[in-house]
Amino acid sequence: MPDSIPFGIVGAGLSGLVAAAHLRETGHAVMVWEARDRVGGRTWSPPLGPDSLHLDLGAAWHWREHTRVQALAEQLGIARVPQHEPGIALYEPRAEQPVQRFPWPETPPPSWRLEGGTQTLAQHVAATLPGDAVRLNHRVTDVRRTDASVQVRVAGPDGPSSTTVAHLIVAVPPRLVAHTIDFDPPLPDSLASAQRKTPTWMAASGKAVATFADAFWRQQGIDGRVVSHAGPVAHWHDAVAPNGRAALAGFLHPTGVQTLATNGREALHAAIRTQLAHCFGDDAPAPTAIATSNWRTDDATTPPGVAPMQVEHPPTPPPVLTQPQWNGRLLWASAETATEHPGYLDGAIEAGERAAEQVFEASPESASTR
Ligand SMILES: Cc1cc2nc3c(=O)[nH]c(=O)nc-3n(C[C@H](O)[C@H](O)[C@H](O)COP(=O)(O)OP(=O)(O)OC[C@H]3O[C@@H](n4cnc5c(N)ncnc54)[C@H](O)[C@@H]3O)c2cc1C
Repeated sequence: MPDSIPFGIVGAGLSGLVAAAHLRETGHAVMVWEARDRVGGRTWSPPLGPDSLHLDLGAAWHWREHTRVQALAEQLGIARVPQHEPGIALYEPRAEQPVQRFPWPETPPPSWRLEGGTQTLAQHVAATLPGDAVRLNHRVTDVRRTDASVQVRVAGPDGPSSTTVAHLIVAVPPRLVAHTIDFDPPLPDSLASAQRKTPTWMAASGKAVATFADAFWRQQGIDGRVVSHAGPVAHWHDAVAPNGRAALAGFLHPTGVQTLATNGREALHAAIRTQLAHCFGDDAPAPTAIATSNWRTDDATTPPGVAPMQVEHPPTPPPVLTQPQWNGRLLWASAETATEHPGYLDGAIEAGERAAEQVFEASPESASTR
């Protein structure tokens, strides 16, 4: 691998990979450093259960207005799966009280999942890059400006290493950047402060997914939705695959997060089995497998020791978060920097495309080879 390459990218989430794919159109080499042992970041859809269903432990849905997700899924040949929303839900007020049935009061805006889970977007985009372009288990620690380039220091399985790039796109949530990557010279105060104040969308949440032999809730006339004030899952919903393989997915209640933190994953999964039996009846089939995620303790999403910010909606980013630094050699992607749908998958794509365009503006000679 050469010591100097034209384009470097920090983070193989959807945003970084979209940027990498655009930069690759120039024919020049691109290197993507990824801290985790997988691509996809906050999209994570590992196989679960006897049928190896790919269920979403991170992002799951896109909506009608998320046209970039739709276009990318179509381009990559990934089928969109309408969310099943017929309308009779369950309400669990407390663990020791009976569960109630109620008609879901509103028709939610239509949403879609992706066949194989949302992580397939990142996996498919990564597959368009040369085999050695994405370096898993490589965490960028320091970024240094030199005369006409950027030096990137990386902690990898073989120890620290250093690579020089002409342009570097940092496709990591801004708050994580501010707390975990050192810049020399330091970033302007206005930028560093905006990065620290930008919540990472859904970083405070955790999810649960469970597979079943069949979608018995549909036969009971229930849509799979459970709203619970008891936990450990606050909100279950139907996640049946297009081939009919049965699953539920949900967001952890604070009691679920607490069980995980205090008693560990097995205790959480046991509590989830108890909750499902309470909601659907002791005779209902037990789950064949359960998996859970906790993004607030995931150090490639939430900086260690820094509590995630809880927000209702992702904020529109201040312009400083998207402005190139160091004469166009240092640029920013990640969903949180998008102007449309920040925080969402659609925003991740927008931000990756924008950052690549900014590289072409700063480096017209590379753009001309497209
Ligand atoms: C539980 C949950 C549910 C969600 N639900 C939805 C939804 O339904 N619909 C929707 O549109 N969006 C949803 N989102 C948000 C969606 O997941 C994000 O918008 C999108 O995945 C962000 O992509 P990204 O590439 O910008 O960031 P990330 O996916 O966070 O990618 C950043 C990458 O950088 C890597 N990284 C971090 N630090 C370093 C470093 N120092 N060196 C190298 N690599 C590093 C990380 O490992 C990661 O792979 C959800 C998120 C979560 C967590």
